[in-house]
Amino acid sequence: MSAMTRIDIAETELHEVETALAQLGHPRFHARQIFQWIYKRGVTDFDQMSDLPRDLRLSTMFVATTPAVERVERSTDGTTKFLLRLADGKHIESVYIPDTPAQTFCISTQVGCAMRCAFCLTGKMGIDRNLTAGEIAGQVRVLASELGMLDRRFNIVLMGMGEPLHNYDSTMKALRMLADDHGFAMSPRRMTLSTVGVLPALERLATEPLMPNLAISLHATTEEQRDLLVPINRKYGLEELLDACRQFPLKRRERITFEYVMLQDVNDSPEDARRLVRLLHGIRGKVNLLPLNEAPGIPFSRPSDERVNRFARILSEHGITVSVRKSRGRDIRAACGQLITESNHANAPGKRLAMLMA
Ligand code: SAH
Repeated sequence: MSAMTRIDIAETELHEVETALAQLGHPRFHARQIFQWIYKRGVTDFDQMSDLPRDLRLSTMFVATTPAVERVERSTDGTTKFLLRLADGKHIESVYIPDTPAQTFCISTQVGCAMRCAFCLTGKMGIDRNLTAGEIAGQVRVLASELGMLDRRFNIVLMGMGEPLHNYDSTMKALRMLADDHGFAMSPRRMTLSTVGVLPALERLATEPLMPNLAISLHATTEEQRDLLVPINRKYGLEELLDACRQFPLKRRERITFEYVMLQDVNDSPEDARRLVRLLHGIRGKVNLLPLNEAPGIPFSRPSDERVNRFARILSEHGITVSVRKSRGRDIRAACGQLITESNHANAPGKRLAMLMA
């Protein structure tokens, strides 16, 4: 046994653990017990799994790699940001957003992000690496356990660091692990995947059996404007993206959320609002306006509430459901687009920015 590498349960779907146990001559149902310990009770030490036979010697077969909590910061509004350290020493952030009225975990999918949206701090870091499925689902385990919420209902939004559709396989595998009846048994209705619209991956998502809610980071109403704000638009343009949204399979009463970051004098005019109405024609969608969270190094300003409200009113007068995202946790730099971790290299842009903001 010792010559074999141990299987990392954190990276494994239930059926894979069942197969591994069966191959070693053990009953498959132990896999469900192990999952319950890990996901429902937050126990990753195999010696503590008291309903499993000792002679199984689980810890010689398995490990359960779990991100370590390095720092916890709590905002005056209750939002709580977790700095987590991964097995290779890299850092990510995950955020707990209470009472919206749901309890929401905002989860990262990559260390950094390659999309480089013009107004997003995470984008300034560039991409370091993809997270594994176990690191994505592991954030949910850690937050639920740290917050004493293992047996409570919560939502997850893939709106932390990274672009989920740029890390497709691991993201989808993590969602399946979270949905497993013997894991958190999360309903896909409680999961939201937010994306800039990596088109081939979006088309693949449309064929998945496990379908999270979809949020599209739109942010602009013309190709030129979106080319500048969301650079991947130069590859997969606005028009194609909206076509894919038109064809995206939605169940009854489901809608796509379009996120629209509001930048003063860039995309916040009444004309932009009217163009947005036209663009969304024929799409079952709603709009979530995100007034910019300002930060040093981000060359845009947040529009006044009056401008945001005027924009929102135009949408709603045209029958579009619109909400304005209240920004949470700004005092601890936990709000949208503000997640950034220090890199090990002193000169990395992430490090410099993080210092600027300290
Ligand atoms: N990469 C995915 C997931 C990140 S979600 C995506 O882009 O959809 C984070 C959301 O916050 C996105 O809609 C993003 O565009 C938005 N955002 C980024 N920077 C922001 C900022 N400074 N202020 C407000 N929203 C921002």
